Amino acid sequence: MPEEYLKYLKSLNDRQREAACTDISTPLMIVAGPGSGKTSTMVGRVLMLLNEGISASNILAMTFTTAAASEMRERIGSIAGKATAKELTISTFHSFSLQLCRAHGEKLGRTSEFLIYGQGQQRNAAIEAVRLLENGKSRHKDDGFLIGEMSKTNPNQVKDKAKKWLKFVTQAKASGRTSAEYHELGNEIGAEILENYNNILKSCNALDYHDLISCSVKLLTDFPEVFKECQDSWKAVVIDEFQDTSAMQYKLLKILCSHHKITIVGDDDQSIFSFNGADISGFISFRNDFPNFKEVRLNKNYRSTRCIVEAASSLIQNNVKRCQLKNVLTENSSGSKIVLKECHNEDGQCSFIVDKILEISSNYAAAECSYGNIAILYRRQVSGKAFQMAFRDRKIPFNIHGVAFYRKKVVRTIIAMLQTALPGCDDGSYSRVFKALLPLDKDEKQRVIDHINKISTVRKCSFLSAARDIFGAKISGTFKRSQLTHGRKVLMTLEMISKLVQREKSISAIITSVANLIPEKYLLEKRATIDVDGGKLLNEDYDIRSVLQYLLDDVSEFLSSKLVETNGEREMSEDKGCTFVLKAFISYLFEREKENFRARRKDNENSVTLTTIHQAKGLEWDVVFIVKANESEIPLLHDYKGTIQDTAALLEEERRLLYVAMTRARQKLFILYVMMDSNWQMLQPSRFLKEIPRHLLDVQGETYIQKPQMKQVDLKKETAKCTMKEQEADVVPMPNDLLNNHFSEASDEHAEVTEAHNGSNFIRRFSVEERSVVS
Ligand code: ATP
Ligand code: MG
Repeated sequence: MPEEYLKYLKSLNDRQREAACTDISTPLMIVAGPGSGKTSTMVGRVLMLLNEGISASNILAMTFTTAAASEMRERIGSIAGKATAKELTISTFHSFSLQLCRAHGEKLGRTSEFLIYGQGQQRNAAIEAVRLLENGKSRHKDDGFLIGEMSKTNPNQVKDKAKKWLKFVTQAKASGRTSAEYHELGNEIGAEILENYNNILKSCNALDYHDLISCSVKLLTDFPEVFKECQDSWKAVVIDEFQDTSAMQYKLLKILCSHHKITIVGDDDQSIFSFNGADISGFISFRNDFPNFKEVRLNKNYRSTRCIVEAASSLIQNNVKRCQLKNVLTENSSGSKIVLKECHNEDGQCSFIVDKILEISSNYAAAECSYGNIAILYRRQVSGKAFQMAFRDRKIPFNIHGVAFYRKKVVRTIIAMLQTALPGCDDGSYSRVFKALLPLDKDEKQRVIDHINKISTVRKCSFLSAARDIFGAKISGTFKRSQLTHGRKVLMTLEMISKLVQREKSISAIITSVANLIPEKYLLEKRATIDVDGGKLLNEDYDIRSVLQYLLDDVSEFLSSKLVETNGEREMSEDKGCTFVLKAFISYLFEREKENFRARRKDNENSVTLTTIHQAKGLEWDVVFIVKANESEIPLLHDYKGTIQDTAALLEEERRLLYVAMTRARQKLFILYVMMDSNWQMLQPSRFLKEIPRHLLDVQGETYIQKPQMKQVDLKKETAKCTMKEQEADVVPMPNDLLNNHFSEASDEHAEVTEAHNGSNFIRRFSVEERSVVS
């Protein structure tokens, strides 16, 4: 065994080493609490696989986020060498599946350039599916009748129905049920809706996000050649954060791992994505499907002080539904008590934290890297805004997880505009370009775009041809003359970009021209909303000159790299303009975005991390501030209409969320709650705070002490109530790793959804709004 591998394995404790060195043909399950070295052991396992002669290109590692993927590649690279690490496939479920589906699109009745339907398009497809049902007609029998029919019924009623049915469809897809199964169960309507929906997507050459996983399963089960190809490619598979695997994802794993070289790593107490179809019963299925498996439990926490470990354990013990009870111990020192701080409002919370950060950072020996050891965790992205402003004022460097340069609105818009000039451009890019270039107000713009989407779904054509028909007045519509004129102008601009790319030899010139086409009003749109929420917050995102300069620097870097020469000589010589080089440049950006993720985090080493709790999974910092630990945040039990969704299952997931947040801290943990929101509404501290033993807390505030009667739920009663509902568990139409930086394969629209997922929108739009079960 190479010296470096040995050294690494020696650094593990006995149990970790035992796990990593288990015979590679034995299915392995590593179950343990936070900070016990699960991910570290998984790295050891990969080294072991390499040492046993499995080549790096035959190893597939599934992680939950692309951040985690980069982290793992980095760790393995530092031991096994960068070249080996580069050969490994470290991927999220969705990017893995997307690749597989693209490679075999024709077997799914699609081309390899199939579209990925986002929320808007899914909704339109659901509307059409409902209409088909109501009219008792099959789309195939009476093609194109919908436009006429649509205006007759009340559109709001149809929309409401479609919304419910879309939930039904996504649940069906996450659980893997087919329309034939619903038929057998006597749910004729469900069966027909599902079938209609699937036919619509097929006829539009589209898949939705849930389809990616189920289509991969289909490819592997129905096509022996695909199965063989995968068996030849992936000789061993390791999966981190297994607790967040959905039933469908598990099915995929099971088929991929018929060779039984599988390692799963997880902690049921950290399952925080069940709203998205994650299902901890995967642990039970694993035991049944791989009966000769070996289970290793790690129980020593290396990450946190004893005080933090004890507090988190006490909290999680209040969960009734736990499938693996773990006794987490630590040999770390007891550390200081957890500060539980009451603040008057969010401003007070912010100034307390700013002062603390300045105090803490001045205590570090090397002040320049002190900020990197600090994180602020919140439930909803919106809670982070106040900190951005305060940190700018006080010159505290910070980074916001998940908002990388190439995911900023303006950059994505420029890239989308460039993509429209390339073959196979996706609908998401066109929609983004229309959004940017139509000189209309936001709502009006959205209405126009919704209409184009609707026509494209109904007519089974692309967004662009729908737009051409609408603005070319081939369809009589409801648009005003001025709107039609604006639409035509956008189409002309698109043509201009296309000609520019065909004619122009310099990418820099093209990018500069394209960037100048974006109206300033559009760039400022977002700033306006930030102004409303957070006072005068200048967002550098919208400084088009610096963005442009950054992009042009990347062009120079790209052109001086070997990539163009080696890959493109022939194509370039045939390429009169810039089509090939531009395409290569965009792929390069996406690729590099992935590669550089880690590097960027290094750049950020000297900055305070601002992140949602969901995004903080698997990560750790010396000092962690959990902010706004209030009722209505953690737990977040209200949906957008104010309906309380107080089921025990939901409450337990919320408790796990706080558990994940608390266990990110190595040394010092601060939990803050506020008494009043920005509308002067009184707020309550989170009910979970009472579950942390008093002796582990340094309580700074009155309310916690004065109000022992915070709302408590009879968990046993609630659990009984909830179990009945559980078969209909909440599923959200977006997959897990859209929450993360699933960027390279994603359309722009997709990336936009991702960003929204990062915070409040994600919670409001997907987690809660979508929770009510189809009746
Ligand atoms: P989480 O559940 O949060 O993902 P985890 O179980 O994956 O946590 P790791 O991230 O692998 O835990 O490890 C937590 C910390 O403990 C890391 O800083 C890691 O370097 C350290 N660690 C893990 N194993 C050991 C060990 N045997 N000796 C010393 N430190 C260790
Ligand atoms: Mg981990």
